[in-house]
Parts: sequence; C-alpha cells; structure tokens
Amino acid sequence: MDFEELKKREAQVMCQTYGRYPLAINTAKGTHLVDYEGKTYLDLLAGISVCNLGHSHPEIVEVMRSQAEKLVHVSNLFYQEEQVVLAEKLLPLTGLDRVFFCNSGAEANEGAIKLARRYMQEIQGRDAYEIITLEKSFHGRTLATLTATGQQKIKQGFGPFPPGFTTVPFEDITALTQAVSSKTAAVLVEVIQGEGGIRPLSDTYLQQVAALCKERDILFIVDEIQSGMGRTGDFWAHQHSGIKPDIFTAAKALANGLPMGAVFCSKRVAEAFGPGSHGTTFGGGAFVAAIATKVLEIMERDDLVARCRKLGTWFMQECVAVQKEFPDKITDLRGRGLMIGIELAFPGHDVWKRLLDMGFVLNLTQERVLRLLPPLIITREELARFICALRTVLSSLA
Ligand SMILES: *Cc1c(COP(=O)(O)O)cnc(C)c1O
Repeated sequence: MDFEELKKREAQVMCQTYGRYPLAINTAKGTHLVDYEGKTYLDLLAGISVCNLGHSHPEIVEVMRSQAEKLVHVSNLFYQEEQVVLAEKLLPLTGLDRVFFCNSGAEANEGAIKLARRYMQEIQGRDAYEIITLEKSFHGRTLATLTATGQQKIKQGFGPFPPGFTTVPFEDITALTQAVSSKTAAVLVEVIQGEGGIRPLSDTYLQQVAALCKERDILFIVDEIQSGMGRTGDFWAHQHSGIKPDIFTAAKALANGLPMGAVFCSKRVAEAFGPGSHGTTFGGGAFVAAIATKVLEIMERDDLVARCRKLGTWFMQECVAVQKEFPDKITDLRGRGLMIGIELAFPGHDVWKRLLDMGFVLNLTQERVLRLLPPLIITREELARFICALRTVLSSLA
C-alpha cells in the first residue's frame, strides 16, 4: 500500500475530523505497531489508553473467537448471562452497587448526566439539573458532554448548547462552592485530566469536592474513562484519594479495544433508571461483555494494577532524571502510574515527530505536553528505550 495514495483516497471519502498522524498501521501485536513498510513502533499510547493488555492478546483473541461462535448480539430486550457475569466481577472493584453498560465514553458520561438529573427530579423531587464541570476538562463529543467539556476550541460552531451546564476554574474550591445553587444536580470531574494535559486534581481538592457535594446534597460524578482500569496504579484513579463518588464512568480500556462504556452508581441513585428510562441497542452485549470479563481475569491473574504502580514509579524517577539534565526544556512532569505527561517549555510538535521517526508512538496534547499511556503490559526495558530516545532528541535541540 502506498501511503500518499491512501491519504489522498481518505480525503476523498471521509469527513476530515481528525488531525491524523502521518502513519497507517497495518498490524499490531503486544506493545508494537507495524506500518505498511514493515517499520515497527513501540506503542506508548495504547489506542488512547484502550489496549491496556496490548494488541491481539492471545487470550482475548481466543475469547473473541469462541464468543463469536456462541452469541454476539441479541439486544438488551433479552437477559444475557455474559453481561451479568461481567457486572458481578466489576462491581466489587468499584465500591458501588449498580452498572449501566453502553458503547463509548461520551455515551457513559451522557448517561451519568441523565442519571443525575433524573435522580434529582424523580427521586428527590427537586428542580435541580445543573452540572458543574472544570476548565480544560474533556468529557466527550455529544452535545451534552461537549457542553460539559471545559475547552472552548472544540465547541466552536456547535451552539446553541443545552442549558444547565457551568464550568469553573481548575482546582478552585471557592469558585466551585460559589457555583453551587439550588439548581445544581452534580459536580463532574476527571481525577486526572487526560486530554487537558495530564493534570491531576490534588487529594485535598477531591476531598473538599466530596465534602461539598455531601453538605449540599448533590451528586459527585467522576469521569474515569481515561484514568480507570488500572492505568494510574489503582484500579480507579479516585481510589487513591479515598473519595467515594456517587456515580462514575468508565470506557476506553474496558474491553481492550472493543467499544464499551459503563456508568456505575449507588443503589439509591440507580432507582432513577427504571424500566424504559434509558437504554442502548448494543451496550454491554454478549460479545463485548465476554471480552471485558476476560480482561478483568487477566488483569487480576497477572497483577497488572500493582505492576503498573511499580513500573510507573520507576518510570517517573527516570523522567525526573531527564528533567534534571534538561531543566530548560522540560518544565513539568505530571501523572500517576502509567498515565504520564511531560510538559515542554515550547510547542512540542518537532520533539513528538522526531520520536515518531525514531519508532515511538505517543501523543502530544495541549500543544506542549507529551502524553504517554502505554499498554500496562509494557516492560521496563521498553520504557528505558523511550527514555534513551527522549534524551537523544532533547540533547539535539539548540
Ligand atoms: C476519551 C474520553 C472521553 C470520551 O470517550 P469516547 O469513547 O471518545 O466518547 C470522555 N472522557 C474522558 C476523560 C476521556 O478521556
């Protein structure tokens, strides 16, 4: 396949919504991606925190094969054993009581927003519907989740937006407290902003938000779509700060590459989602549910969360060492576990491109943050290769 020709054909048939990498992937296995020329790349992105077990994990491939022959889709009009087995396995990891399965992150957040509003209006009998979110947050691309998202640039041209959303400054508890009114239904935050540049909220702030929500009797919703599923060295990033949200959402890594989302909530909140109130044709169908169950089994057996924590701690120390050598080039290091942001003192496109040419796939976000979300199965040696490449690129800069 000729890459230039593929680019041209793509532009003639597809909406140009993506600023794509100058790369087409032909095959992927484990932590490696291979392009059409046979060049191999180390995957430090995992399809944006999705393929945590790496690509074409043999046990996942085997479940896909056997489940495809057993049952793929019948719709949520039917009881499906695969779905119940998954929920029974997932819920004990969440500290919550009920789950609603869907197909993507945006759909999970959309569901969480609907659930919070309906809980207020139908269960509590309060005319409360407003959702408060933070600046630089990212919650999805549907109209409601886009409205919830605290980034002006991706909202351009899509108005008018649905009412009932307010955005307040990052980690400013005073501003948040002032924004809460009798119309407030919930506060929605990412524990570590992903798209926003790997920006963690402090434990103190998260505890203050939890206390505020409790005091004002509003719901605390956490978006764990990017930070969940072991990524930060805890199963969910919010567990680190000891808070207990009323609702939280997951998606990306749930089914290791197949589309799946989930909304977790307490039993009391779940009462608002009675029969006919909300739904989806595909969500949590037998095929993806069987895969997600296998993902959890593998994570547990291989102790991937503890492994991620250890590897992440080591990797951050390595990054700190590089920062000490290049204090004028690396201005900040943020993150936890294997969710890491390396902030540069200058726009990072050239550094990103040099690393890509050297065979390292990662993401650049907010113009100057190198974002790393490698598969959780990555090895120390592979990460050390990246550190070595980063040194080479930084030292070659004027
Ligand atoms: C990716 C992401 C979403 C949106 O998920 P989609 O599956 O792309 O709809 C929402 N919130 C966060 C924090 C994300 O990282």
